[in-house]
Amino acid sequence: MQEAFKNIITQKIAGFSNIAVQADVLRLDLLHPVVSGNKWFKLRYYLQDAIRQQKTTIVSFGGAYSNHIVATAYACKNAGLHSVGIIRGEAPAIRSHTLQAATDLGMELIFVSREAYRNKTLLQQELDRTGWYWVGEGGYGIPGAQGAATLLGTTDFSIYSHIICATGTGTMMAGCIKACLPHQQVIGISVLKGHDLLQQEVEALLTNTERKKNYHFFHQYHFGGYAKHPQELIEFMNELYRQEQIPTDIVYTGKLFFAVSDLIRKDFFSAGSRLLLIHSGGLQGNLSLPEGSLIY
Ligand SMILES: *Cc1c(COP(=O)(O)O)cnc(C)c1O
Repeated sequence: MQEAFKNIITQKIAGFSNIAVQADVLRLDLLHPVVSGNKWFKLRYYLQDAIRQQKTTIVSFGGAYSNHIVATAYACKNAGLHSVGIIRGEAPAIRSHTLQAATDLGMELIFVSREAYRNKTLLQQELDRTGWYWVGEGGYGIPGAQGAATLLGTTDFSIYSHIICATGTGTMMAGCIKACLPHQQVIGISVLKGHDLLQQEVEALLTNTERKKNYHFFHQYHFGGYAKHPQELIEFMNELYRQEQIPTDIVYTGKLFFAVSDLIRKDFFSAGSRLLLIHSGGLQGNLSLPEGSLIY
């Protein structure tokens, strides 16, 4: 995968830049068509660790539309490991694009009821087999954050004052905090409604020294909740594509870009700020939209 780093570019966002503020986007969505964005970075040290421990199989959790599940299936296939996905909810009659892609990559799927899915510790105890290496839902965990910290290494990020990303589990944000320099602030835009434990969950992945770094959370840009995508968001995403040729997804990056454009308009950033938005990929999530909703 490292050879694919050359696909990643930083791109100026002209419409987000004015005399006071300049904004660029780190296009991790260009990394790879299947494992785009942050997912491979979050997985890399788990895979290394599994191989070191001579495990044969990576097992992880996700919903029917989980980017993490497909990325896990791909990364395992690439690394010569088996993969198992524990999927929330009963097996559907028609598989989502995500689950079909995971199966095509050789992942074995185990469907569990929503109720059983809630207790992952118990599921792990019941389903565990020799040679299985368990990775938390969404890649949440310290190795996940350490891997995510390396995503900033794909560009010279020292010139920026703010590094801004969308947050699901917060693992990528924790990685950005680990990697950030003393003059930088990391900003997380939560895409979940009422994710009150986000800060605590991010901080659980940090050392004491890292907890003293400069970071901030915004909770008002979820558009109704995880994967909710009202027309206002879709229109914003189409306009962004028209102006900047940057495709975004309905779950994470559309909300990230909307939030930053709103914060710029409200003068949140002081003059001289240089923003780096992390385009964390996820574009395959748009396949669940009715055809023609997006212009790309
Ligand atoms: C999974 C994902 C995220 C969230 O990452 P976390 O580390 O769980 O916060 C953000 N953007 C995209 C496109 C994703 O697929």
